[in-house]
Amino acid sequence: MGNRVNTKPSTSSGASTTTGLLLVISGPSGVGKTTITHRVEEHFGAVFSVSMTTRPKTGDDVEGRDYYFVTPDEFRRRRDAGELLEWAEVFGHCYGTPCAPVEKHLKEGKVVILEIDVQGAIQVRLNMPDVFAIFVDPPSEDELLRRLRARGREDEATIQRRFSKARQEIQLAHESGVYDRFIVNDDLDKAVKAAIEAVEAELRRRGAGAR
Ligand code: 5GP
Repeated sequence: MGNRVNTKPSTSSGASTTTGLLLVISGPSGVGKTTITHRVEEHFGAVFSVSMTTRPKTGDDVEGRDYYFVTPDEFRRRRDAGELLEWAEVFGHCYGTPCAPVEKHLKEGKVVILEIDVQGAIQVRLNMPDVFAIFVDPPSEDELLRRLRARGREDEATIQRRFSKARQEIQLAHESGVYDRFIVNDDLDKAVKAAIEAVEAELRRRGAGAR
């Protein structure tokens, strides 16, 4: 499938005058959202929005593909210059979405994916109300804890910190009213299929002129 999704001008209320689809995918650490995001990206020929972060680069990270790694001073400067669509502090580091590429790709009619946390999704919903937002839930809290441990990346104290943040994030996501769809990842292929079907249904709905 091509990546042009809707050539009709948006008529929704709010500041957006875009024609593509802005898609937010959120979920707690360990829930498998990165895999789901990349499979959705491939399916729709979508554009993954590369965030700016002050967190240190790890061995697996590629500058410009996974993140733009910046100093706290540079992050502040660019945030204060209004270059970010949203931003949040997660585990002591700042993360934010640069506006310019998102706006450019939406104007080109593309599906643009933001893989961001709930605080960021709330800001995006306020700034661009016609965003479509998906939250990926774990099958249960016990299973989430098991998956965090199985990654083998962190010590037990860090795992417990991530688990506690994940529980708060899940609660906030469900209470915020920001998400259009909740998808439980108990089976990765089924979760990917559900996410793709949700986006296809939304594109059809918008193509049919419903708002
Ligand atoms: P990590 O450091 O593990 O890649 O990401 C930590 C958390 O930050 C994840 O929940 C991720 O979705 C979130 N995140 C990544 N980029 C952004 C961003 O630009 N804005 C916000 N609000 N959260 C982000």
